[in-house]
Amino acid sequence: MGAPLEATGQVSVAPLLGRSVRTLPRVGSKGAERLANLGIVTVRDLLFHWPRTWHDFTTLTPVSALRAETTVCVQGRLSELVVTPRLGRRKARVSATLTDTHGDSVAVVWFNQTYLARVLPVGEPLLLRGPVLSDWSTRQLTLTNPVRALRPELVPIYPETAGLTSRFLAALIQPLLAQLTLPDPIGTTQPESGSLRAAIQTVHRPASLTDALKARRRLELDELVALQVAIQERRRERTGRHAPAIVPAVPLLQRTVQALPFQLTDGQRRAIWQIAQILNQASVTETLLQGDVGTGKTVVAALAALSVLEAGWAVRWMVPTQLLAQQLAERVRSLLAPTSFSVALITGGTKDELPQHGPGLAIGTQALLTAPSSVPVGLVIVDEQHRFGVAQREALAQGKEAAGPHILTMTATPIPRSLALTIFGDGAVVTLTERPTHQQPTTTTLVDSWQDQRCQAALTAALAAGQQVFVVVPRIEQAAGGSLFAQTLAERAQAYRQQFPAAQVAVCHGQLDSVEQEERLRAFAGGDVDVLVATTIIEVGVDVPNATTMIIEDAEQFGLAQLHQLRGRIGRGAVAGQCFLIPSPAALPEARERLKAVAETADGFALAELDLATRGPGHLTGTAQSGLPELKLARLSDAALVAQARELAGALLVHPPRGLAAWRALYQRAEEEVPE
Ligand code: ADP
Ligand code: MG
Repeated sequence: MGAPLEATGQVSVAPLLGRSVRTLPRVGSKGAERLANLGIVTVRDLLFHWPRTWHDFTTLTPVSALRAETTVCVQGRLSELVVTPRLGRRKARVSATLTDTHGDSVAVVWFNQTYLARVLPVGEPLLLRGPVLSDWSTRQLTLTNPVRALRPELVPIYPETAGLTSRFLAALIQPLLAQLTLPDPIGTTQPESGSLRAAIQTVHRPASLTDALKARRRLELDELVALQVAIQERRRERTGRHAPAIVPAVPLLQRTVQALPFQLTDGQRRAIWQIAQILNQASVTETLLQGDVGTGKTVVAALAALSVLEAGWAVRWMVPTQLLAQQLAERVRSLLAPTSFSVALITGGTKDELPQHGPGLAIGTQALLTAPSSVPVGLVIVDEQHRFGVAQREALAQGKEAAGPHILTMTATPIPRSLALTIFGDGAVVTLTERPTHQQPTTTTLVDSWQDQRCQAALTAALAAGQQVFVVVPRIEQAAGGSLFAQTLAERAQAYRQQFPAAQVAVCHGQLDSVEQEERLRAFAGGDVDVLVATTIIEVGVDVPNATTMIIEDAEQFGLAQLHQLRGRIGRGAVAGQCFLIPSPAALPEARERLKAVAETADGFALAELDLATRGPGHLTGTAQSGLPELKLARLSDAALVAQARELAGALLVHPPRGLAAWRALYQRAEEEVPE
């Protein structure tokens, strides 16, 4: 094990692991660039690039036992190699005969790989693995497009990218395996689970499929323990801190609820009660309040704030944009009108006076971070958390106050229950599932282009009725290095201007400065703009009840939960929303299937689960910013392994073994940039 691993502060992984892949033989700058496309920058990344499967060259079938429509591996020698060049629409072929040790022969063919004629070892023993098909013209059994190996072994198949084959990746990885040294707290403290080193060696070069799967399980455990260690440590830091236990201000709450212009839903009542109980604890709590856009989270949070104010503590409520802060301050002022508490708006542009004496509620943007408070802060509410970085949240939570504030995080991005529980812990996730009944459900339709009749009819009708339209695109420019996406944001806006000359069309995106962005969003919110063509900055940026129609272009570029969040921006008024999802022409069939799921279900949690199952937690909005280790192999739904990992992590934190910090560094990801 490397010596300086445990140095405090900056922990770096062992020298070899931290080295750039560029320094490896045969990589070069072009290779490094391609590896970077797979997220591989260092040797560590390369070693942690797990095979997605293995081709089995160990289970052999004699030629005499071949059957059509099966995949087999046959050992033998090649002869009679013939190359037939491409002719018109007929593919180029390399054909040959494979004869096994019993002397039986089978035809072999490769299409469009004429280079094989130069590299296939004719006359030498080799193994071929592939499907046996019945040739349509000769009716002969033919081993078709087989892959090859020289020894009976399992060949790892990796996630690949243009210009990088599994063969090349294996050739890079194999020589590193022998020299591998790794910090391994689990292997050290739990010898029966096997070493991390052996598991990594085995997944990249297994002797049998059983070994490979067992090694993968060990790596899943490693990932889950890394995640649990990070979570438990965070929780320990928090719960060690004292916080005010807030007794619910029942009579005041009742009076305030009675004055509301609507009846609370049962879900809201339940949420208010759950949060009241959580806040009534003397150590710092962190709660996630999640519910789709429009489920009425604001009033729930405002009532939580009320008890804290009544108990004599200040409250800070942070939102991502100035415009939202203004809209929110207005609403919360009217919600709290029956009480004596003041609501101050604090943004970069405006600073209301904070109350000199007594507790008050301050609503604002990041500017809240630096606003001094005459009364200690008892509760921080973070609205739409995923637009805030970890560091910002910490800054708000760690004032110089003797007692730390409770934190209530609200999000409309549904996080699957398993993941939310893992991150926030039991009893800290409060979910609003029902919507206030007056709201109309949004319909979602999958179409091929915005010229689709249904889409055009909806746009025409909405604009004629004076309603507003969002057009959402994944990026400002076309994808780098290709014309995968039909148009740039500007071209799209131009197309709308042409089609609807009477409509005011504006664009908004992250390349405009924040003042300009605010101005344009404000113009849209105020009704001066009819069609807003924008990137996802509108995801949390505006509340426009008159916006009824949304067109999402290149829709497969978004996560499912994110699409759900986006369409939550419409249908907030009296008129039902209409959302159209348009995949780019390059979208794969699987991607279209996923979009169909979004069109067919209104359940954000179901979509988030689907995202989790098909893309992993790293792709869920919100979790990347959580700063927690990413799971590449393990599933949070794997209850038994998660339980084992939780226990192991607890033990590791109680008696930290040598190398723990260096091992954790293996799983740390660079903090992602937080979009403005
Ligand atoms: P969220 O923040 O969850 O997206 P909001 O709190 O902004 O949702 O509420 C959306 C709209 O629904 C607001 O106009 C709010 O006044 C209204 N609303 C909230 N709760 C109820 C309710 N129980 N009945 C009717 N309308 C409600
Ligand atoms: Mg809200």
